[in-house]
Amino acid sequence: MFFNEEFETLPRPALEALQLKRLQSMIARIYKQVPFYRTALDKAGIGPESFNSLADLRRLPFTTKQDLRESYPYGMFATPMEDIVRIHASSGTTGKPTVVGYTKKDIENWSELMARSFVAAGVHKGDIIHNSYGYGLFTGGLGAHYGAERLGASVIPMSGGNTKKQIMIMQDFGSTVLTCTPSYSLFMAEAAKEEGVDFRNLHLRVGIFGAEPWSEAMRTEIEEKLNISAIDIYGLSEIMGPGVAIECDTAKSGLHIWEDHFLAEIINPDAGEILPPGVKGELVITTITKEGIPLLRYRTRDITSVDYEPWRCGRTHARIARMSGRSDDMLIIRGVNVFPSQIESILMGIEGVEPHYLLIVDRKDNLDSLEVQVEVDEGLFSDEIKHLQALAHTIEKQIKDLLGVTCKARLVEPRTIARSEGKAKRVIDNRKL
Ligand SMILES: [Zn+2]
Repeated sequence: MFFNEEFETLPRPALEALQLKRLQSMIARIYKQVPFYRTALDKAGIGPESFNSLADLRRLPFTTKQDLRESYPYGMFATPMEDIVRIHASSGTTGKPTVVGYTKKDIENWSELMARSFVAAGVHKGDIIHNSYGYGLFTGGLGAHYGAERLGASVIPMSGGNTKKQIMIMQDFGSTVLTCTPSYSLFMAEAAKEEGVDFRNLHLRVGIFGAEPWSEAMRTEIEEKLNISAIDIYGLSEIMGPGVAIECDTAKSGLHIWEDHFLAEIINPDAGEILPPGVKGELVITTITKEGIPLLRYRTRDITSVDYEPWRCGRTHARIARMSGRSDDMLIIRGVNVFPSQIESILMGIEGVEPHYLLIVDRKDNLDSLEVQVEVDEGLFSDEIKHLQALAHTIEKQIKDLLGVTCKARLVEPRTIARSEGKAKRVIDNRKL
């Protein structure tokens, strides 16, 4: 089953001809509209006219999250604001988020790619999609929502949280498809058990899980506990949001990346050279149809490999392997992207806190937890205990308010946290993927 059979099964020569045409038009647009890219292309000695083959892609400059940060909020937009109909944002490396804008056409393309993704996962018109991705600046909720409507399925806009109610609705409304983070699905399964609800008696058939990396072991656990087929979906707001790539239910062997909209390359994250198919490295994506914020060779920092062999489902689009890590220090905690540098800048703004901290990430009862250990002023320990408690509360509240992630602050005496002579070890991640 396909949503758009013609485009999903384009033979590679036709697909590559389309990619080149779209890439040339994209380069002409960003050269004209985005000063950042005009400068970068001039520097690389490439004009829009001199770009004649897909192989020329490797001569083009990369785009990084840092570049997006420096152009905050709208500096990378390639269309006038009056053509932007939607704005989303994701966590940046410091206090400011990374902002993305969508034109009407961008929303249409995104909806189609999400609809294609749903169909690849085995979802069809007539399904009742229980969408527990967060609605808001985060792209998950609205991305899945628009795709579900485009497909013609019934969508329940649950958003995250209020797990008891989620289970009641799933039971009463006859939800057949669940979309959320993989860890939240297991949390739901546990909560349902406590409520005396057996997932085997629900109508749920398929789960589409993303926004955080997960393992085959976790897939097995989810499929058993929820009695469903669990599918991995990939996306990032800088590129579009969910629906950049998805596994098909035929094989669950790699995620098809929609190559008529995105060009994928795998590079060595240190030296930047392109790696051959099958070799693991950092995924780099070029958007070739986006109007609001087209990106050239965007460094996703996600580690995967790519396989161009046509697959037995009939789709010709390349498959990327499930994400196996990051080439930077970004943490994904309950689907929220967090950089240690963000927590550091919050801590440094709080009086009495010393510049030594350690983040301990764990997964208990299928939910991620974050403990922030931080050294505080010696004087505070001879003070009343309530002062320490108030300080811990301030830290927890500021991190929750500014980053959207719940943590437990543990205040420790000066010189408790181990010092290192090289790069300080700021994170201990005890989660097993
Ligand atoms: Zn397939």
